[in-house]
Amino acid sequence: MKFTDFKYERPNLEQIQKELEEQIAIIGAGQDLASEIKAVYKVFAINDKVGTLGTLVSIRNSVDTTDVFYEKEQDFFDEQGPHLRQYEQLFLEKLLASPNRKGLEKEFGSLMFLRGELAKKTFKPEIIGDLQLENKLSTEYGKLVASAKIEFQGGIYNLSQMAPFLQDKNREVRHQAQLAVSKFFADNEKQFDRIYDDMVKVRSTIAKKLGYENFVQLGYDRFGRTDYSAKDVKTYRDQIYSDIVPLVTELTDRKAKRLGIENPKSYDLALSFLSGNPTPKGDRQWQVERAKKMYDEMSPETSEFFNFMLNHELLDLDSKPGKQGGGYCTYLPEYRSPFIFANFNGTSHDVDVLTHEAGHAFQVYQSRDLLPDYRWPTMEAAEIHSMSMEFLAWPWIDQFFLEDTNKYKFNHLAGAVSFLPYGVLVDEFQHGIYEKPELTPDERKTLWRTLERKYMPFKDYGDDAFMEKGTYWFRQGHIFGSPFYYIDYTLAQVCAFQYWIKHQANRKEALESYLSLCRLGGSKSFLGLLESANLKNPFKKGTVKEIVKPIRAYLDSVDDSKL
Ligand SMILES: [Zn+2]
Repeated sequence: MKFTDFKYERPNLEQIQKELEEQIAIIGAGQDLASEIKAVYKVFAINDKVGTLGTLVSIRNSVDTTDVFYEKEQDFFDEQGPHLRQYEQLFLEKLLASPNRKGLEKEFGSLMFLRGELAKKTFKPEIIGDLQLENKLSTEYGKLVASAKIEFQGGIYNLSQMAPFLQDKNREVRHQAQLAVSKFFADNEKQFDRIYDDMVKVRSTIAKKLGYENFVQLGYDRFGRTDYSAKDVKTYRDQIYSDIVPLVTELTDRKAKRLGIENPKSYDLALSFLSGNPTPKGDRQWQVERAKKMYDEMSPETSEFFNFMLNHELLDLDSKPGKQGGGYCTYLPEYRSPFIFANFNGTSHDVDVLTHEAGHAFQVYQSRDLLPDYRWPTMEAAEIHSMSMEFLAWPWIDQFFLEDTNKYKFNHLAGAVSFLPYGVLVDEFQHGIYEKPELTPDERKTLWRTLERKYMPFKDYGDDAFMEKGTYWFRQGHIFGSPFYYIDYTLAQVCAFQYWIKHQANRKEALESYLSLCRLGGSKSFLGLLESANLKNPFKKGTVKEIVKPIRAYLDSVDDSKL
């Protein structure tokens, strides 16, 4: 069955609620363990059914935001989702309090219960209205960003279609492109400020209602982070500041030299080579054919997976008017199918989708037989699978980039390192925001610019007064939609670097380790997964310093002036 044949029908929520009530009533009601276990599996099945429909709606709505039918269905799920969460909550409460808990933990694993305890802390029926508002604001932000119609050089573009201009070889084109993008954000400044202010306020209200001091710990708990705290994350950010920021500053200098620019400006940072950034040498279809060959050759497991994706048409890659920006990978449990969404734009980003998003999809495909709770790991672990796949693809990367291969490799590694300071900047900003929710929109911008100077001292906005004000983060959807998520990318990157190091030393061993990590899915916590895979803990002082050594050595060994 192909994706287009996956059938959507609005679920009968009354019926579903009744079914859930029936099963939940069995749990913790003094029945025998076997009956309780059976009821838990039935709840899983009901959730998978509704979850599949909800995901189907969100995919089809994001593929075409102008489709009125799915827009309405999305509204339906935004409205009803929090009501269903009540049952999730009730289910959890019964499960956690069951006299058979020991036996249940044996059947389902204790991590599910540990996460359950956290999830329980993050919800009360009193916050349903607030959650609905939070959802609505997220949707509103998405629409605002998708509404961008940027006039540039006689054409009209959305934000992701502007990417090629922002890395154009001609400096003035880059400069004007940045100003055009900034203008969109400046024109909508009041709206972005208002949406974000409402978000911060409603999240702080939710935190208070749940008994938290502020939203920070609630943000962590929402992601089910069971084994590290804001304090650990600070230790980690400090390592990035001391061990990575100097390297990135050096890399920026090297780049400026390569580009023959004396005082690089912010609009120079996206271009890496005067001869142009590495680009894939063919269109979408050509790239997908090469990806197929790569996965066929990489391992029997990757081959089976990628052919499954192709045969069921589970990739939507072309950029189209009305399509939401960005990229993601999701999963449809009823069809046991991952789905990949992207906006190809002719840059190396396209290949990243075929490696990065495919890495996510591959992982969930490998763990599709695990319990629903363990299909995905927490986000910081999930990004290890995707980012490591980008590195495991290196032996085939010349198939995509041909004469640009060396450029791509240098840029991939340098880019990944250079991302870390930005990633922790986004994180530190949000800690500042939610520790002081009373900050005004202008104070928030000042905070951003201050931290930007700390972590990206080389970023000079020149005559772009709007960015200089501290507004770059308007485009960073995670800050709006998924607070405190962003650090996960950087944590995972530090782990993925370890796969790059392993892979340089021994390809076969690296791939085997990767495969077994994928199969574990989310059956362990972040640090538990790292331990199983023999990866170093990024929160431990000294880890970042050690990992960056071989990376620096590689980058130093490349004569980038020739690229
Ligand atoms: Zn990802």
